[in-house]
Amino acid sequence: MPSPDLHSHSTHSDGTLTPEALVARASARGLTVLALTDHDDTSGLAAARAAADHVQLTLINGVEISATWRGHTIHVVGLGIDPDNAQLQAGLAATRGGRHRRAAKIAAALDALGIGGSAAGVREFAANADMVSRAHFARFLVKQGEVKDMHSAFKRYLGAGLPCFVPHQWASLGQAVSWITGSGGVAVIAHPGRYPLGTVEMRELLGEFRDRGGAAIEVVTSSHKPRQYAVFAAHAATFGLAASAGSDFHSPTESYHDLGSLPALPPGVIPVWQMLGI
Ligand code: AMP
Ligand code: MN
Ligand code: MN
Ligand code: MN
Repeated sequence: MPSPDLHSHSTHSDGTLTPEALVARASARGLTVLALTDHDDTSGLAAARAAADHVQLTLINGVEISATWRGHTIHVVGLGIDPDNAQLQAGLAATRGGRHRRAAKIAAALDALGIGGSAAGVREFAANADMVSRAHFARFLVKQGEVKDMHSAFKRYLGAGLPCFVPHQWASLGQAVSWITGSGGVAVIAHPGRYPLGTVEMRELLGEFRDRGGAAIEVVTSSHKPRQYAVFAAHAATFGLAASAGSDFHSPTESYHDLGSLPALPPGVIPVWQMLGI
């Protein structure tokens, strides 16, 4: 039986499958536990839950909150959250508000490079107009023929430090964790191996995260090479954090690990699903 997949996206953020199609794919590929963790938005959970009930898949209510820590963008996944919690929803709404302003600036930067029409063009890709992400801009750039694939869009235009990268202040780490834990959820640092942090800063991040009430880090994720699983399993042990596993699935054609094909957690870690009652 495949291990739970506790990180995935739908059309309610920058995934390409509707919540219903995502759940159907997860079930068809043998998953029995899936968390839908859209960026800064929980509006896909109701439809995902209705679909999951039909196929006997356990759906975990999730979210992936964009946060800023010492100038770095850090993603904090919330698992087992209560989407009806008012404080969580107020925080997510404020975060999405920032996305509107940022998307306008990204479009202006593309205009300045002679790539026009992105402000309107991304709407075709962003089914949720409140949740425009760089992934939508990347898909727009591919469609326009400016780049051959999404990865090139990030390498040439959208990645940190590049001409169309707009620095942005997201929620603070403490806010992201407290919105999650305040709604009854478990806070998880997403894909820690993706952040450009040295060992000392990584330890400081994990220590601060734990002290603020964070409970787990992703050990197995599409963003990690297999050799990093042991590295982050050791970090989890050091900081008394549990280990999570998630594909970070966005699309059948864009994702490194498809639903239902994640490697198992390495031995010796505490699986985060023990805290979720599954
Ligand atoms: P944002 O939250 O708007 O900054 O967008 C970040 C999203 O862009 C991530 O959640 C991924 O879906 C996507 N992304 C980031 N880097 C890359 C990359 N190198 N190739 C493809 N997609 C990426
Ligand atoms: Mn994404
Ligand atoms: Mn992420
Ligand atoms: Mn993600």
